[in-house]
Amino acid sequence: MHELTLAAALAELAEQEAQRCRVSRVVRLHVRAGVFRQVSPDLLRDAFAQVRRGAFADAELDITVAMPAVHCLHCGAGEAFSSFTAHCRVCGSADVEVRGGDELELTGMDAMEADDRETCAIGGGCENDRTY
Ligand SMILES: [Zn+2]
Repeated sequence: MHELTLAAALAELAEQEAQRCRVSRVVRLHVRAGVFRQVSPDLLRDAFAQVRRGAFADAELDITVAMPAVHCLHCGAGEAFSSFTAHCRVCGSADVEVRGGDELELTGMDAMEADDRETCAIGGGCENDRTY
């Protein structure tokens, strides 16, 4: 099952991040899944429920489906991908590239400290990396 493979990969990533940030309990994982991954958010949530363990044994998935963008290699214009238009709408060049849409990223993690304080977010920076 496709989603189970992805869920296992996410669990692996989350485990590493939880260790790096020294959090003991993760309550939510924020995930960006490119539309080309053809991920069903419901199936991915179910699959994740089968593989979650340890620090994130009761973590939920918050899934954002990411759309790709079309970038013109000629004039540099970029726009959200809406259809399979094979040329740039700004300059008309056919030298375009579709970027993104196939990512699967862990963009954030909501963790609970022992004293019930919510902490830590990947990307936003882990609290353990901050100086006060
Ligand atoms: Zn262009």
